[in-house]
Amino acid sequence: MTGDMLPFWQTPVESLKGVGGRKAEILKKELQIFTLYDLLFYFPYKYVDKSRFYRISEVPMHAQSYLQIKGVITGMQVIGEKRGKRLVALFQDDSGSMELVWFNGIAYMEKNLKLNRPYVVFGKPQLFGQRFSITHPEIQLEEERANSGISIPFQPFYNTSEKMKRSGLDSRNISRLCMQLLNGYSHRIEESLPHHLLQACRLMPLREALTNIHFPQSDALLKAARYRLKFDEMFFLQLQLLRHRQNRQVSQEGFPMPKIGDNFHKCYEKLPFGLTDAQKRVIREIRNDLVSGRQMNRLLQGDVGSGKTVTALLVMLIAIDNGFQACLMAPTEILAEQHYESISRTLAESGLRVELLTGSTRSALRKKMLEDLKSGAIDLLIGTHALIEDKVEFGNLGLAVIDEQHRFGVEQRAKLWRKNDPPPHVLVMTATPIPRTLAMTLYGDLQLSVIDELPKNRKPILTYHYSQRAWPEVYPFVRKQIQAGRQVFVVFPLIEESEALDLQNLMEGYEGFSRDFPEPYYHISLVHGRMDSADKNREMERFATGKTQLLLATSVIEVGIDIPNASVIIIENAERFGLSQLHQLRGRVGRGSEQSYCILLSGDKLTAESRRRLQAMVDTNNGFELADFDLKLRGPGDMSGTRQSGMMDFRLIDLAKDEKIISYCREIAKNLLREDPTLEKDENREIRLHLDEIAKFRVDYLQIS
Ligand code: ADP
Ligand code: MG
Repeated sequence: MTGDMLPFWQTPVESLKGVGGRKAEILKKELQIFTLYDLLFYFPYKYVDKSRFYRISEVPMHAQSYLQIKGVITGMQVIGEKRGKRLVALFQDDSGSMELVWFNGIAYMEKNLKLNRPYVVFGKPQLFGQRFSITHPEIQLEEERANSGISIPFQPFYNTSEKMKRSGLDSRNISRLCMQLLNGYSHRIEESLPHHLLQACRLMPLREALTNIHFPQSDALLKAARYRLKFDEMFFLQLQLLRHRQNRQVSQEGFPMPKIGDNFHKCYEKLPFGLTDAQKRVIREIRNDLVSGRQMNRLLQGDVGSGKTVTALLVMLIAIDNGFQACLMAPTEILAEQHYESISRTLAESGLRVELLTGSTRSALRKKMLEDLKSGAIDLLIGTHALIEDKVEFGNLGLAVIDEQHRFGVEQRAKLWRKNDPPPHVLVMTATPIPRTLAMTLYGDLQLSVIDELPKNRKPILTYHYSQRAWPEVYPFVRKQIQAGRQVFVVFPLIEESEALDLQNLMEGYEGFSRDFPEPYYHISLVHGRMDSADKNREMERFATGKTQLLLATSVIEVGIDIPNASVIIIENAERFGLSQLHQLRGRVGRGSEQSYCILLSGDKLTAESRRRLQAMVDTNNGFELADFDLKLRGPGDMSGTRQSGMMDFRLIDLAKDEKIISYCREIAKNLLREDPTLEKDENREIRLHLDEIAKFRVDYLQIS
């Protein structure tokens, strides 16, 4: 079959002249370029301005890029010995002179370079002493250059590997292949967007964009080309996500829960505080889902301490009021137990049956519990991932809440779906503030609710960063807080590779703190990953009830623990923690009405990045700002949950910087689907065809949620 008979995007890269078996092999291996399409979408990483000539006197002192200079060679000489041996040519124009240097091919250059003839030289000038020099410049006689016919104002540079260079696939070769491709095949590149969208969004046509991203005719055209291609990248992804969500909404029947009953009302009235406006809004949003007759899949984002638990509880009570069971799954036993304690207390007089199921639930108890769960005698089950084991069967599960979603895999979430038919409504909660851009892409098919307001009685936490050596100055402050009746968390870093080392750190810290805060005046609790859960609970309990004033722990307390009287958190070796983790930890304090403090202790030798991270903590309490900052600092690859998904591999879109275009694409996609939900209108034909096409060869992003 010849290349021409296949659709363009399937045409093998071998169809290009000069791409023989070996080169094709290497393109596939090194760059995953299999088809013409792959090659066309292999974009340059930079361009070099050949649209102007520099005079030698104009060369900037610290030239960072390649420049083009016109001049004549007025003299040459071979100097140096052995490896230092080189040909140095004096290159001049009417404004000054510089040197051109060759270490390789000395004899050849010496023989072929012509004196006093106009040359065009191209390279990156470096300053040596008083004079600029270019090592191994590109050099061409001006007259030859004029005859060669190719004049591209910006030369593209492509990433290549050593292996590729050895096989004649350097950046220049790749650019030639792209040129050949564009010349020979561009008529077969199908426009992916209909005319009305191109016009409304002021987008460059696809063919032109692809030509200009490889061989831009000007800065402005390059910009327009990149914009168009970014648009495609995000628009079609958003379209897929939204359609997926749409399909699910249409097809996935859910339990209708029209009633707001006694349990909800009683709990609501008995709350010791009024809900924040944000909490009320979120409950309304969820309620709209619950009466819709369709299954809810909602992500609830809220900064630490914003009151997600009580929000979830009220929603679970709606499910119960409508005759269903509800469950709440937490990522750690400590957290599950804490939810159990506080929810049981709140519901003490309701007559509802609340149970706790974790890995340490005794088997006799568990057996009875599972029976009661199946018969429907249990109204609300709280637990860890023990909840989703196959043996756990519900009589009639109507709503599943997952706390701290980022700790659970997609698979575990899917298991909850299967606990009833039709599947229960699902509410996932996270305090990991995902930047908007990420949320829009990663969770683009979930409904999103945000609690963007902290309860009013909160005072912003004050954060300080000190060197570990400054402890003697910090210590009196901590002592004063304790004397005023407050409690203190002290967190030690968890080094995953070595639990033994963590423990050692913690134990050494414990000795130090025991000296500073001696019995019988002070009491210290100690919690770490190696303790069994009964001991852990006892210690937590002692702290929670105020019997101890300090709680020393490895970062097991990171998630969720709620002790309003604790007003200070000291984080040792704070430079070892990630930004979102630090923010989570800080959220352990500031939960009561007292002024709270977060003290970050670190070593003296900090990397620039650690310093910036700690400074960001000092500068802001806002989890979303920190998340954005983190995204900019580290890139999206490290954000929780996105690492393995591979879906963050964009060619042009930068999640940290492109928020504007991402939101724009989402808006456009939404509007389009509102007008034409099934994309059957003739005017959207291009979009429909393009979606079909990418569905065939793109990773299925949608599996992940
Ligand atoms: P998170 O969102 O981090 O899970 P929690 O649900 O643990 O936060 O709530 C933190 C604390 O704030 C709890 O002690 C809770 O009782 C309290 N709280 C929740 N909502 C309000 C409110 N509207 N006003 C005052 N305190 C509240
Ligand atoms: Mg919580």
